[in-house]
Amino acid sequence: MDADLQTRLDDANDASRKHLIQPWPVADSIGDEARSIIQSGDGIYIRNDQGERLIDGPAGMWCTNVGHRNQALADAMRDQAMKLSYNSPWYTSNEPAALLARRIADHAPGDLEHVFFTTGGSTAMDSAIRFVQFYNNVRGRGGKKKILAREGGYHGSTYLSASLNGGLRVKNWMDFETDLIIKLACPDPFRRPAGLSVDAFADRLIDELRQTIDREGAENIAAFVGEPVMASGGVIVPPPGYLKRIRDICTENEILYISDEVVTGFGRLGHMFASEAVFDVTPDIITFAKGVTSGYFPLGGMVVSAKLMRDLQGSNHPDAMFAHGLTYSSHPIGCAVALRNMDLLEGGIMDHAADVTPYFWEKMKALEALDLVGEVRGLGLMACIECVADKSNKNPIRLDTEVGNRIDAHCQELGLLLRPLVNMCVMSPPLVITRDQITTMADILHEGILRTQNDLRAEGIWQG
Ligand code: PLP
Repeated sequence: MDADLQTRLDDANDASRKHLIQPWPVADSIGDEARSIIQSGDGIYIRNDQGERLIDGPAGMWCTNVGHRNQALADAMRDQAMKLSYNSPWYTSNEPAALLARRIADHAPGDLEHVFFTTGGSTAMDSAIRFVQFYNNVRGRGGKKKILAREGGYHGSTYLSASLNGGLRVKNWMDFETDLIIKLACPDPFRRPAGLSVDAFADRLIDELRQTIDREGAENIAAFVGEPVMASGGVIVPPPGYLKRIRDICTENEILYISDEVVTGFGRLGHMFASEAVFDVTPDIITFAKGVTSGYFPLGGMVVSAKLMRDLQGSNHPDAMFAHGLTYSSHPIGCAVALRNMDLLEGGIMDHAADVTPYFWEKMKALEALDLVGEVRGLGLMACIECVADKSNKNPIRLDTEVGNRIDAHCQELGLLLRPLVNMCVMSPPLVITRDQITTMADILHEGILRTQNDLRAEGIWQG
C-alpha cells in the first residue's frame, strides 16, 4: 500500500475512533471505537485497511446483491443526480419513483399493487405498522391494534420496528413498545423440542397461534409480521407449510399478514419476492429494502394490496389522512438506481444465481462433516453454520466462547469476511459469485472452522 493511502486510512481510523458512533456499540467503548475501514470494493470482494482483499461473505448486510463497483449502477446514480437530484414528495412526484412502483407491483404477488418508498427496512416496517393502524382506525376497528411477531425475528432499529424483534442479543438495556406486541415462538426446526418430528413441531406452532388468537381475541389483533426466512436470527427456514397455515389463519381472523422481505427479496431466494414464489403465501403487505438497490442507495418500502386501498377508499371517513411520509420518500436517485438494479437482476444475474445455487449448497452442506458444525442451513444464496458442543444432542456450544467471532477471525486471515452471530456464522454472498469463488469460499470456511476447533481444544474449552 502506498504511503499516501496509508496516511489517509490512519487518519480515517483516528476520526472514526474519535467521532463516529457505530451501530450496536457497547457502553465501555461507545464514542471510542474504530472498526476496520473498508477502503474499496469490486464484485464479490472488499479491501480492508490493511490492503487485504476479502470475499464479502454477507454481501455487506445481505444487500450488495449485484456486487460492488457496478458501473451501470454508478452511471444510473450520476445520470439521475444530474437530471433531478431531489423533489419534494409532499407536493410532487418523479419519473423513477413512478416507474419503479409499477415495476415492483408487476413482480409482487396477488393484488399487491401500491408502493410506498422509505429510506430502508426499519422505516418500511414502521410504515407498514402505521398503515395497518390507520387502516383499522378508518374502518372503525380502533381496538384491532396488537401485532404478532416471533422470537428470532429481526425487523429493524426504529422504536416500533425494534419492538418487533425477538433477538438473540441481550436487550435488557433498551426500551421497547410492549403493549402492542405479542411474541410467538421461533419456528426453528433445528432447535425443536427433542423427540418431536418437524411436522409435529409445526402443528405445535400453529396451535400456539390459535391459542394466542383465542386468548387475545381476533378483534384486538391487527397483523402478523414475519420474515419468510429469518435472516439475522440465524437463517431459519420454517417447517414446510407453516407460513401458509399462518396466512390461512390470518385470513380467517381478518388479521393482516405483513411479509418482511427486506432480505429475501430482490434475488436472494431466486425471485424478486419469495413469499408466494417459494412459500405459497400471498401477503397483504410486503416490506422490502437492501437488495432493491443492491445497497447502493438507502431505499426501502412497502407494497400494499389493492383490496386494502379499496377498503379505505370506500370508508365512511373520506377525509382521514394517512399522516405519514419521509423527506426522502420516493427519492429519485434511489429509485433510478433501483430500476437499473432490477434490469441487472432480470438481465442475467438471477439466472446466474439459480445456476450456482445447487453447487453452493453442495459445498456448504459438506461442512456438516466438521465436529463443531451442528447444522448448515438456509435457502437460495443465504446460509448459516450453527456450531454445537455435541453433535449427537445438539447441545449449544458455550456462548462465551465467541465461536462465530473466532471462525470469522480465522476466515478473515484466509481471505473471507463472515457475519458472526454468537455461535453461528452467516453468509449471503453477492449473487454474481462464480463456482470457482464458491469453491474458494468453502475451502476457507473449512480451514477456518478447523483452526477454530484446534484453538478450542488447545484452550480446553471444547473436546468434540
Ligand atoms: N427487516 C429485516 C428482515 C432485516 O434483516 C433488516 C435489517 O437487517 C431490517 C428489516 C431493517 O432494515 P434497515 O437496517 O435497512 O433499517
